[in-house]
Amino acid sequence: MSKVLVLPGDGIGPEIIAEAIKVLETINTLSDQSIAVDTGLVGGAAYDEHGHPLPQETLAKAKDCDAVLLGAVGGRKWESLDIAVRPEKGLLGLRAELGLFANLRPALLYPQLADASSLKPELVSGLDMMIVRELTGGIYFGQPRGVRTLDNGEREGFNTLVYSESEIKRIGHIAFETAQRRGGRLCSVDKANVLECTELWREVMASLASDYPDVSLSHMYVDNAAMQLVREPKQFDVIVTTNMFGDILSDCAAMLTGSIGMLPSASLDANGKGLYEPIHGSAPDIAGQNIANPLATILSVALMLRCTFGQAAAADMIERAINAVLDDGLRTVDIMSAGMTQVSTSVMGDAVVAKLKAA
Ligand code: NAD
Repeated sequence: MSKVLVLPGDGIGPEIIAEAIKVLETINTLSDQSIAVDTGLVGGAAYDEHGHPLPQETLAKAKDCDAVLLGAVGGRKWESLDIAVRPEKGLLGLRAELGLFANLRPALLYPQLADASSLKPELVSGLDMMIVRELTGGIYFGQPRGVRTLDNGEREGFNTLVYSESEIKRIGHIAFETAQRRGGRLCSVDKANVLECTELWREVMASLASDYPDVSLSHMYVDNAAMQLVREPKQFDVIVTTNMFGDILSDCAAMLTGSIGMLPSASLDANGKGLYEPIHGSAPDIAGQNIANPLATILSVALMLRCTFGQAAAADMIERAINAVLDDGLRTVDIMSAGMTQVSTSVMGDAVVAKLKAA
């Protein structure tokens, strides 16, 4: 039987995960392909219980499951801990241990929320793009790295940008396949005019194109890509890029959609196993108040059904249910606007479940 490990984490994590579980359980009753749910501790909650943000028991369960659904980790309570045991290390450890090298971040603007974007509605209405970010290589992991003292006594900081051909190829294949399932357009973002490492990136991406004749590949320098994202974001279908460029561009793309509470993400290994989570953090400022937006986490369930479990129809159902709830004018506080009805976290989750049952 298919199995998902659910890790609520810290802050608003348990509140938003509770709503995602309601939705998954509803899907289980509507589908003939049931997914079993196991739970575990990660982040600050795990540190409090076991003295480590990623206990062995959690890691073993994660390896044993087909997918992991995570709320969020972190909070002020744990900020003074040694960096090696801070909550965020639990998440980084999971990504590394599970070999999750491909990060998929959709940026989709719900027409009902067009006013929430920082750009003019005509620039973003209909926006639907995907950023595929390499997650386990590049300058965030390259060796050597550090801060050294030179002979003249001055300190010098250094990091290394490094990608092997095989690393570029494996993220490239994921990106081309993603473009095949979407609009068939892939833009590879690099800085090939300055960095040799990304010159290789461009060359390897171009070499993959003949395997995907149904995808049109283009290349763009990262500075131009940043400009184009705020100038004409709808020109993009799928973007593939390095770890650091993807980190920056995906946050920029997220803001085009107006709310951090609406965006899911997937981090995948080579076999489709994935860690699914909302892109936002644990929001300690609103934790425990039943006001957080659970929709990014519910959308993470949809992404999980589509990418790991091959249940595209169930994923579509969830996305349609969310659209219907937004059409009804229900809004959590982060997406509230004049004339709409403000609801709590749990009422929003119940509303999505009701739409699923009525469909
Ligand atoms: P955050 O994303 O938690 O919050 C930023 C702002 O957005 C806050 O005002 C918050 O109230 C709001 N917000 C976030 N999610 C929301 C939701 N679902 N509904 C309504 N409002 C929402 O970022 P932060 O404040 O920089 O970080 C808080 C903690 O989360 C830190 O400890 C940080 O390290 C951690 N963090 C964790 C992850 C993760 O688990 N993947 C990601 C980012 C930050």
